[in-house]
Amino acid sequence: MKNGRILVVEDEGKISEIVKAYLEKERFQVTVAETGEKALSALKQGFDLIILDLMLPDMEGEDICETIREDSDVPIIMLTAKSEEEDRIKGLGIGADDYVVKPFSPRELVARVKALLRRSKGTKDIISFNNSDLVIDAKRFEVRKKGETVVLTPTEFKLLQCIADHPGQVFSRLQLVNVILGYDFEGYDRTIDAHIKNIRHKVEDNQKSPFYVKTVYGIGYKFAGSPDED
Ligand code: CA
Repeated sequence: MKNGRILVVEDEGKISEIVKAYLEKERFQVTVAETGEKALSALKQGFDLIILDLMLPDMEGEDICETIREDSDVPIIMLTAKSEEEDRIKGLGIGADDYVVKPFSPRELVARVKALLRRSKGTKDIISFNNSDLVIDAKRFEVRKKGETVVLTPTEFKLLQCIADHPGQVFSRLQLVNVILGYDFEGYDRTIDAHIKNIRHKVEDNQKSPFYVKTVYGIGYKFAGSPDED
């Protein structure tokens, strides 16, 4: 399972290679376009997010951004060497969602990608599973079990939302730590078990034989509900 498809528009091979490697490590599927023209023709493949360098050999990043925005609201992160406040504001004004100033840490870029994807997902969606037995309402930060509202702590909600967004995908404890804290912290991974126990207590019919949140022995957890059709 992939986390999403990302288009990296960047003419400097050294930078795009590093960005690609970091994103692939996080299970994103990455396509690189070295020119504006290639980027625009790649668009029809459909991407979940675009990382767009402002300085390209054939086109201005701003123009590409505006062209994309004519018929798509795909999240865009601009890469810019321009650190002037004015230029940043301009970038956001023409429809970019976020920007990262060069030189940047690839790790920070990946964090921004994830945050932006979460944000763009979080603004819609009520996800419902097994004929509305379990409903996760990201807009209201609410979970409903058999129609009844269940109160989850923000951490529990984040964890459940994360795994439920990717049914069947196995998450290690460390990945889930990352979801909660935004970074890896080995010492924290056992607390994931405690959070999962609480979530099960709230959403499972039978905690001894959980239906939704399954343990994957030796690795971590996965979500086993089946999403309802819209
Ligand atoms: Ca460039």
